[in-house]
Amino acid sequence: MNHSPWCFIIAICLLPLPVAAGEPAAAHVHGAASLQVAIDGKNLTLNFESPLNNLVGFEHAPRTEKQKAAVRAMAERLHQPASLFTASPAAACALLSLKLESPVLEPTKPSVGDGHADLDGEFVFRCEHPEALRALEVGLFQAFPRLQRVDVQVAGPRGQSAVRLSPQQRRIAW
Ligand SMILES: [Zn+2]
Repeated sequence: MNHSPWCFIIAICLLPLPVAAGEPAAAHVHGAASLQVAIDGKNLTLNFESPLNNLVGFEHAPRTEKQKAAVRAMAERLHQPASLFTASPAAACALLSLKLESPVLEPTKPSVGDGHADLDGEFVFRCEHPEALRALEVGLFQAFPRLQRVDVQVAGPRGQSAVRLSPQQRRIAW
């Protein structure tokens, strides 16, 4: 039997393959997303990567008004990162920059390719008291109910750690 790479991509999207805790979730798995947390001086940088299906329920260019509205709603939610990522209040973190990349956010791209597509978001916060930055509460599960799991990697002054978040476990501490 000839297994093309295309078949493989479809297979990993359909099967919720177990991934050992601590491994980066680079694969495109529906229901799962990844979050890289980097603390460098006063900067807290969050890199979020998710299959679009988790965020809008489809992964092709939006065609209907309902699909276009879903894309707009996703972008609006992600442009309010204070409700998605709550850092330790004593650290006094404020959003510095925000960057979203996804084929559905670029109307010049007529199609999305192989049928699967992601969203990448980069959120940079500046924290006045980074020494007080010890935890992050993640509100992604409430905002995007299709999301079942977020594999998190933290890199900061206290070293590296990894944690898997779920709707029941939404807090990262380090
Ligand atoms: Zn997909």
